[in-house]
Amino acid sequence: MIIKDAQFICSNTQVDKCPQTNLPEYAFIGRSNVGKSSLINMLTNRNKLAKTSSFPGKTQLINHFLINESWYLVDLPGYGWAKVSKDSREKWGKMIRAYMRLRTNLICVFVLIDSRHEPQASDLEFIELLGALEVPFVLVFTKTDKQSAVKTDQNIAAFSRKMRETWEELPQIFKTSSAEKAGRDEILDFIDATNKQ
Ligand code: GDP
Repeated sequence: MIIKDAQFICSNTQVDKCPQTNLPEYAFIGRSNVGKSSLINMLTNRNKLAKTSSFPGKTQLINHFLINESWYLVDLPGYGWAKVSKDSREKWGKMIRAYMRLRTNLICVFVLIDSRHEPQASDLEFIELLGALEVPFVLVFTKTDKQSAVKTDQNIAAFSRKMRETWEELPQIFKTSSAEKAGRDEILDFIDATNKQ
């Protein structure tokens, strides 16, 4: 897919204020600092379309971007902030559940996972939530340039082993590096293919 056009449309705290549309939607989410903004900017070939994480005290927003006037890319507020209050955590949970439940045009959630780390409880918990809500998702292992390919594959294998404890089938997996522009075509091809089904 060639990205001809990428426009910021709106930021919302409430799901029912998000664009009313039949266009397909793909959402991106992950732990804070996972490289979500960098990935969105890499995918859309824009330097500053998605802004780097704002601190958890700030309002958590659902950001809609319209791509090629044919699908929405959605930047969802992340999880796993160390110092976030219980109140913010609950607000986030409520917002994310509502988003997953109400966006009937949502095709797939891209769950970003930092490829440098061993399986993290917050990622596994979030994936369990998606499973409970029956939302289709894929995994994106980010920042692969930060270590050897062998180490990346070991961490992915460890994550897959953890998932097999509760999942019969594993989701599709992508490996990306925004620094090296790796994994871009694979993700855009996936969006292209699932868009047309
Ligand atoms: P976000 O909080 O998930 O939106 O993460 P950001 O995109 O702001 O990235 C967090 C930090 O990781 C920044 O310092 C980025 O420059 C860095 N980063 C993000 N992606 C990559 C990557 O693929 N490779 C490397 N080496 N650094 C990255």
